[in-house]
Amino acid sequence: MQTFYEIGLKPEILESIAQIGFVKPTPVQTQTIPFILGTDKDLIAMAQTGTGKTAAFGLPILNRIDPFSDKVQTIILSPTRELCLQITDDLKTFAANLPVNIVAVYGGAPIVQQMKELKRGCQIVVGTPGRVNDMMNRNKLDLSAISFLVLDEADEMLKMGFKDEMDAILDQTPETKQTLLFSATMPADIARMAGKYMKKAERISVGPENTAHKNISHEYCVTTPPNCYQALRRIADINPDIYSIVFCRTRIETKEIADRLISDGYNADSLHGDLSQAQRDLVMNRFRNRSLQILVATDVAARGLDVDNLTHIIHYHLPDDQESYIHRSGRTARAGKSGISIAIITPGEMRRLPFFERQAGAKFTHRMVPSGREVFEKRLFNFVDSINDAQPKGYDLDVYMAEMMKRFGSLSKEEIIKKFMSLEFNRYHADYQKAPDLNVATAEHKPRRERDRDTAPRRAASGQFTRYTINLGIRNKIKPDTLINIINRQTPDMKIAIGKIDIQQKFAYFETDSQHDKHLQQAFHRAKYKGLPLTIQPFMKDTSKRKKKRELAWKE
Ligand code: AMP
Repeated sequence: MQTFYEIGLKPEILESIAQIGFVKPTPVQTQTIPFILGTDKDLIAMAQTGTGKTAAFGLPILNRIDPFSDKVQTIILSPTRELCLQITDDLKTFAANLPVNIVAVYGGAPIVQQMKELKRGCQIVVGTPGRVNDMMNRNKLDLSAISFLVLDEADEMLKMGFKDEMDAILDQTPETKQTLLFSATMPADIARMAGKYMKKAERISVGPENTAHKNISHEYCVTTPPNCYQALRRIADINPDIYSIVFCRTRIETKEIADRLISDGYNADSLHGDLSQAQRDLVMNRFRNRSLQILVATDVAARGLDVDNLTHIIHYHLPDDQESYIHRSGRTARAGKSGISIAIITPGEMRRLPFFERQAGAKFTHRMVPSGREVFEKRLFNFVDSINDAQPKGYDLDVYMAEMMKRFGSLSKEEIIKKFMSLEFNRYHADYQKAPDLNVATAEHKPRRERDRDTAPRRAASGQFTRYTINLGIRNKIKPDTLINIINRQTPDMKIAIGKIDIQQKFAYFETDSQHDKHLQQAFHRAKYKGLPLTIQPFMKDTSKRKKKRELAWKE
């Protein structure tokens, strides 16, 4: 791979990117920078946000424009105000050692100030389509002499309804310009637009192969609709350092989930279209500086939010279309980091997963919603670790040591630790102890071949399975996954491996790892299914006497 130096960028640019800390080009930069430096041909680059695409077009454009001409030489169109400001900031940083002026024009801010800035002269304009079009109609922006037109997140601009404005802007640009189109996805209307406005464009793709993409672990868990919120809480609880965007489908849902999280004591807030620009800025700044750990947002509201180091993207529901999934999940695992994209889905949504897998170019991994016990343990040990790291700040505890030791009296170290932990964890334990299993067995919703695999014998950790009979059968409308659910429900903290299941008319056989024999029988003590007391018995090869006895016991 070539270095930035070998690619042939100007020393002034090399110096500024060295100051930022860019050591080597990202995959999209490796492909686009030499191309833009070496040819005037148009370019269609499939690249998501987070791949380094701003520098991919920004660096070669800065290298090629004439800093001593006051004419606008480049227009960069972006879908949102936030992305527009982000691109402007990045370009200004890259151009720190060049006499280049960059102006941002975007809606939701006074137009007069932006007009003044344009009047002062600049070589690069970054703008949202609506405001750029407005400026052109008012004769405040002349794009007749541009050399570069960049369409950033072109798919988003079309999706947000900017087609007419984009057409109007593009019509007033010269034939000779080089057009660079960046898009995370390539829906049909982007292909049509490219066909209309671009000349024999070169195509490059850093989609599924790029490293940012590979670093995303795509996961899902399955629960019932009423349990989605609790599943979200467990995911947050088991990741104490979570820094996440939770995507919801509607403004109402966004607000409702954020409000519940806040009242449950999470560091969360919401971002949606009902907020004023000032409120949006406030929320975004709090999220950017990490005063908020969880931001609950709609797809549209989160568009321009550019934040590195997100640990999780949580899909409170799958989005309506697969492109939105790519945009959402591409917000984690940026700049070479890794991240998790996890969807909380209901059984009804299972059938949509394969489409998302195809679009993401990755297989999704099924994750269990953590059990109450897992969450409890995680928080307990996390607390222990934070105690290990804690230091008194600005005061000296040593001076109180003698008195404290006196008050602890004869307590041993273990006793002090226990008391200390119970002070913090008694409440949690009460909460988590009765926390139900939130997982839904998914076998029923999988394709036939996978379903078979799920009910096929699995390996028992102990190497041995015990076969049980249970007084539920076809007459009780029992299917293998109902039975798995019942076993999981009765043993919420055990993760028992379940082997073969065989459902007869009045009873069923199932196998479980023999190491859990004792617990399993206890767990079914007084268990009921739809009001029917459940009985499980280890299965012993039937002598005809035993068989008769059992059949008698389970007769109606
Ligand atoms: P972008 O896709 O342009 O939004 O960039 C995503 C993040 O990657 C930003 O924080 C950039 O500063 C960072 N970035 C871009 N290029 C590089 C590079 N060559 N080396 C390290 N970080 C980069």
